[in-house]
Amino acid sequence: MTRLLEGKSALVTGAGSGIGRATAIAMAREGARVTVADLAGPGAGDTVAAIRAAGGEAQAVVADVTRPHQVAAMVDAAVAAYGRLDCAHNNAGVAAGTLGAGGQRVGDIDQEVWDRMIAVNLTGVWLCMKHELAAMERTGGGAIVNTASIAGLVGLPGTHAYVAAKHGVVGLTKAAAIDHAEAGIRVNAICPGYIETPMIGDSMARRGERILARAAMRRLGQPEEIAEAVVWLCSDRSGFITGTTVTADGGYMAS
Ligand code: NAP
Repeated sequence: MTRLLEGKSALVTGAGSGIGRATAIAMAREGARVTVADLAGPGAGDTVAAIRAAGGEAQAVVADVTRPHQVAAMVDAAVAAYGRLDCAHNNAGVAAGTLGAGGQRVGDIDQEVWDRMIAVNLTGVWLCMKHELAAMERTGGGAIVNTASIAGLVGLPGTHAYVAAKHGVVGLTKAAAIDHAEAGIRVNAICPGYIETPMIGDSMARRGERILARAAMRRLGQPEEIAEAVVWLCSDRSGFITGTTVTADGGYMAS
């Protein structure tokens, strides 16, 4: 059976942990050569080791998505190693809890927290796309998937800066899809519900029971369940899909 991403060059940010790691591994399983990017080397190295152990091809790149030169170098590294860039999953992100601001309302957080949240979760996605789109245009097209969230579709309590950034990712995704469709580039957003990764420790500690009670499936999602949707959105099987969001939330948004 033909693999979904056979021979493609793919890039995943935040790929040293959680959803990004699962996506990088799933992309490699589907035949992509994967540039595994993350803020810290050890996490990215572990993901590359897992891919290689399964017979796949990958390289690790350390890059902070808020740093223009590092992002440019990250995309250059993908093209240098694998000749082109076909797929990108802009996934690196931080939660309010990660920044010590979980549960806080608009008037409660310091501007440093707001600035960091927007810098990583929104500006970081824009910066990655800026370089990825240029690389994809040079070789005739590609597919980009940005990680938004159900927090990009509705408000959630105690995490307004994250909600604002993720709504921004959804808007940016739509606008980029319109601007780059003629160049053969599709741009979509994945909107996960609550997924079992290090990121949700704070939310689960504060309101885990309420979260699980609202999800129709009454459980957290697994990173691999998001990865499968991202692989499909990057593949030619979703060839007419662009500028939209795919929600994978176990039915959280259904109620
Ligand atoms: P995770 O396990 O914490 O992974 C996030 C990754 O992003 C980490 O490897 C982290 O590196 C990296 N990262 C953070 N800041 C970065 C930066 N400035 N530059 C490059 N990499 C950076 O969390 P996750 O749940 O997989 O989250 C992945 C994405 O899914 C995020 O965009 C998140 O907002 C989104 N999401 C998650 C959920 C959920 O329930 N888990 C739901 C909806 C959306 P370090 O560990 O070294 O900081």
